[in-house]
Amino acid sequence: MSICDSPLRLRLDTSALVDNWQWLNARSGAAACGAAIKANGYGLGAAEVMRRLSAAGCRDFFVATWAEANAVASRAEDVALSVLHGVRAEDMAAARAGRARPVLNTPEQVRRWKEAGGGPCDVMVDTGMNRLGVAPADIAAGLLDGLMIETLMSHLACADEDVTMNAAQQVDFAALKGRTRARRMSLANSAGICLGADYAFDLTRPGIALYGGVPRDEAAGRLRQVATPEAQILQRRRVGAGDRVGYNAAFAAERDMELAILNIGYADGYLRGFSGKGHAMAGAARLPVLGRVSMDLLIVCVDAAPDLGEGDWVSIGYALPEAAEVSGLSQYELLTGLGQRLQRIWN
Ligand SMILES: *Cc1c(COP(=O)(O)O)cnc(C)c1O
Repeated sequence: MSICDSPLRLRLDTSALVDNWQWLNARSGAAACGAAIKANGYGLGAAEVMRRLSAAGCRDFFVATWAEANAVASRAEDVALSVLHGVRAEDMAAARAGRARPVLNTPEQVRRWKEAGGGPCDVMVDTGMNRLGVAPADIAAGLLDGLMIETLMSHLACADEDVTMNAAQQVDFAALKGRTRARRMSLANSAGICLGADYAFDLTRPGIALYGGVPRDEAAGRLRQVATPEAQILQRRRVGAGDRVGYNAAFAAERDMELAILNIGYADGYLRGFSGKGHAMAGAARLPVLGRVSMDLLIVCVDAAPDLGEGDWVSIGYALPEAAEVSGLSQYELLTGLGQRLQRIWN
């Protein structure tokens, strides 16, 4: 499929991505600012994101698995790549051979890494989220002795909320300063960066905010939309008062209306939560979604755009905070759910 053949595109804005990283980097103060590019760069394309952010000065990248590390390793010259899920027994060959470091999460992973001869690694410590990470008590008992630790990290459970757990995790993490041989410490994700300088330590790890997600009010108006789906019109049609539209006849026209049928649906990640609530744009004209989102198709009202016709393109309303509100999906789901039929096009 050539780049112009697809009836469905994802427009990706390099300058918005870089501006977002630069804002997060500035908010990180003296700490370095990395980038989480797991889940294929939150659906945008990990290698493409990595290339753009490393050109902007980003030096620390995070993926979830060794398969994700391998997919970008050839581009990972002059940058550090960390694998957040660490090393299972099945990962050891890739981990020993590769250019990436494991983030060791369990005593078993620590033992496995030491037995294989060690080498540079990162370590995740659990400070209350009870997801991944070794216990501070195990660190005190000497679990990490002898490891070559580049970054000691922990992860905030509620950084997008104003709750006392944030400060509690920050204090517990800060208490580990000097207790390991780690060269750097890292706590903050996107929302954590907004919590202030105490949370930045030596390295921050934003993900969603790089891609235009707004994790907290402090970031509202500061981050630019990076990803915008665009769909081509397959058919334009007129309906009259009383006509029904789409699956389950969920929309009934109360007057004469003009519709456009678009090449996008829930199989592309444009989920049913947008039914009757989402919108597309044609220039300045707003085109409301009518009725149910279908698997591969979407129906919008084009009364506001009399000149639009078959073959024309419209953009889908996908500013993440608003789209999350409208659809009931999280900003993370909105990006990582975008399907492979959307041709990724960077400008
Ligand atoms: C995904 C992830 C991040 C990035 O989180 P955002 O909320 O997307 O900024 C940072 N650190 C770890 C350990 C992660 O798993």
